[in-house]
Amino acid sequence: MSLDENTCTCVCCFIVLVIAGFYLVWSNYGSIPFVIGGVLIAGIGVLLLRNSRSVKQTQQQKESSKTIEVINRRISEEKYEREQRAKGLEKYVNKSGNTLWGTPEQVAEWARMDKASVEVVIKKEIVKIRCQYCGKLYNEPLDSCPNCGGSG
Ligand SMILES: [Zn+2]
Repeated sequence: MSLDENTCTCVCCFIVLVIAGFYLVWSNYGSIPFVIGGVLIAGIGVLLLRNSRSVKQTQQQKESSKTIEVINRRISEEKYEREQRAKGLEKYVNKSGNTLWGTPEQVAEWARMDKASVEVVIKKEIVKIRCQYCGKLYNEPLDSCPNCGGSG
């Protein structure tokens, strides 16, 4: 017996059980339970439909208000930039990605400081090597030990 046949048998059994159940209910109580059941199912269906529709609407509203928000923010940013430039200030984005506004002298100073801190980081990253002959530490770019002359 294949899986499909199994599933089919199960579905058939279920339908037979449902029909038998319906028949039992109908023979005992008449058609009223079916009317009530039908109304209930229709009611639930309508509720679900309405709910999914309102969810879609709120999503659309959210998206459109988000777009408006982004546009408004961009407009106010542009306005702010115009005002700053009118004051003779310059825009500067530092190495952390923050936007700063300052006089040309301040911007030059910030650029110098950022550059200096980047250079410090590069200097810190120089790897030290321990000489296998005398045990002294020396910088990686060197081919041989400055203490004893032995090469790594
Ligand atoms: Zn050495």
